Amino acid sequence: MSNSDLFICSDLNEDFIPTKEIDNGRFVRNPERPLRLKYVHNYMTKRFESISPEKFSEEWILKVHNEKYYEYIKRKSAEVEGEYIPEVFFVDPIFDTGTPILRSSYDAAVKAVNAVLTSVSYVLENKRPVYSISRPPGHHAMRNYGGGYCYFNNVAIAARYLNSKGLRVAILDIDFHHGNGTQDIFYDDPSVLYVSIHGDPRKFFPWYSGYEDEIGTGKAEGTNLNIPLPGGSDKRIYIEALNKAIGKILSYGPDFLIVSFGTDTHIEDPVGKFSLLSEDYRDIGSLISATLCEKITMICIVQEGGYNPRANLSAARNFFDGFLGVRS
Ligand SMILES: [Zn+2]
Repeated sequence: MSNSDLFICSDLNEDFIPTKEIDNGRFVRNPERPLRLKYVHNYMTKRFESISPEKFSEEWILKVHNEKYYEYIKRKSAEVEGEYIPEVFFVDPIFDTGTPILRSSYDAAVKAVNAVLTSVSYVLENKRPVYSISRPPGHHAMRNYGGGYCYFNNVAIAARYLNSKGLRVAILDIDFHHGNGTQDIFYDDPSVLYVSIHGDPRKFFPWYSGYEDEIGTGKAEGTNLNIPLPGGSDKRIYIEALNKAIGKILSYGPDFLIVSFGTDTHIEDPVGKFSLLSEDYRDIGSLISATLCEKITMICIVQEGGYNPRANLSAARNFFDGFLGVRS
């Protein structure tokens, strides 16, 4: 692949700025802000051609999320004054206190979905990879619960959109955290393969899911693969896990690959706890490209987490250098 083969679709939702979350009973600064993706956005949009997000019907959101949850996000955003911290334990349909509702939450969540739907439909039409630099992220959002800074599950909605075109989809989730939402949505559905490499849930968020024995159910048994790794995992451990994930994807034989691209795996990320260095992302991008791009002609890379603005930039820059085969 060459430099001209990547397109960027971005929506940073700059008027959506959560300021706080509760951690261990105290208010702390919420790291899911526009600034986290600002540098990577500025760099990538200078280097590659951009496509503009289009508006899609909100019916697509309802193919993944139940109506009660969707209406809650919409209504609460319209009503809220300031910043509402959800009450967990079955009061609000949000499972943690890191996912506040602001006046701009619903619009931002819809626009992130639109950016990802625009990206996958561009890939579908042009057979060129697209990197969606959008927020809020989505992989923790379940059918009827939000959480982990996620409201609507962008990649799950995109996968449903692709299913409606008769395509088999694989999702490779390389965010530091397990995508409990994406797993939940496709757990009984063999038309989408979910493979995730993440920090061991015995130690890290979301704690209750991401274990190796979660393999899917019914006809979908074998279409969910979790590869939990210990905190501090470095490139050697990571590449071994990635090879295992790639083997699973190749044996599933998808028409379309979506990468849930979280850069909170970087050693300097304040939230994730792996030890990947900036240059390691070059090998990760190049391995994905060498093994999967031959077989799968349609690939979309979607930003999930990543909370250190400079580390996000160097991780993404190196990943796409490797992915596109740019010489160092
Ligand atoms: Zn994450």
